[in-house]
Amino acid sequence: MTMLLKGAPVRDVRADTLAQKIKNLTEKPTLAIIQVGKREDSTAYINAKKKFGNKIGATVLHVEFNEHETEEVVISKISELNADVSVHGIIVQIPLPPSLNKEKIIDTIAPEKDVDGLTSTSLKLLWENKKGFIPATTRGIATLLSHYGIEIQGKRVVVVGRSALVGKPTALYFTHQNSTVTVCHSKTLNLSEETKRADIIIVATGKPGLITKNHVAPHQVIVDVGINTVGGKLEEEVGERKIVGDVAFDEVKDLVRAITPVPGGVGVMTVLSLFENLLDAYDAQHAV
Ligand code: NDP
Repeated sequence: MTMLLKGAPVRDVRADTLAQKIKNLTEKPTLAIIQVGKREDSTAYINAKKKFGNKIGATVLHVEFNEHETEEVVISKISELNADVSVHGIIVQIPLPPSLNKEKIIDTIAPEKDVDGLTSTSLKLLWENKKGFIPATTRGIATLLSHYGIEIQGKRVVVVGRSALVGKPTALYFTHQNSTVTVCHSKTLNLSEETKRADIIIVATGKPGLITKNHVAPHQVIVDVGINTVGGKLEEEVGERKIVGDVAFDEVKDLVRAITPVPGGVGVMTVLSLFENLLDAYDAQHAV
């Protein structure tokens, strides 16, 4: 029978550990989230982070700017938060409005507070396999697989998607964990030929139903990172909206060894991992 790799049981156990740890600290670990504009999906993700932060006893500061805010003002706020010793982690909710330089803004975050692991300093550390913050989604995938006893060393891992946020850092991380990694993307010529060779398929494309029964094999573990809203526009037909992944779940679920559900799989783990990174940042800042 296929193993369902649910995130919630893992999150709950690890959230208790974080909460216990925070209870014994003199100061509350504090995360600042910068949001520019009011994208509905970004607000939903931020609300999930606030809810989890509250649950474990961390403080979450939601710093909001309107979508026309200048780069200088956003950068100046991040610099202020960098200097504030009561703030231990800073993240910028992406996507940013196109008028802003995403790389420049993210790179303003002090490396010791970069709990999303997206500054060039963190990415260089990951590239070099040195200690640093691993992007939350990548850390979440690794924690999930480890919790369910899924071996990654020596395994063939096919990552579908090569974004700076998910695909690339995940491919790098698994390479350092001694997996044999193939990265696929929109120009990959025969995707199913590549995916069928994998022991573990990690899909992060934002294309609902991309991975079908024709892409999988019975021994495989499928990690579906995709979060896609289908079946209705954002502010209309609310009742028909549904969140789905990049894998045709119903078609694939009985054909493989293990699979993550969407929702309830990797997404849950990403929020947890962000706060695990925050606690690591807190510890490092209090060790000096
Ligand atoms: P991007 O749009 O930045 O990247 C998508 C990647 O998928 C690109 O590399 C693209 O290839 C590739 N791709 C697109 N179409 C195909 C195709 N037909 N075949 C193969 N590869 C294809 O997306 P993100 O990485 O930011 O996000 C991907 C998904 O993950 C989204 O649904 C997002 O919502 C979700 N997500 C989930 C998180 C979680 O916690 N679960 C966290 C972050 C994201 P190319 O480079 O050639 O264009």
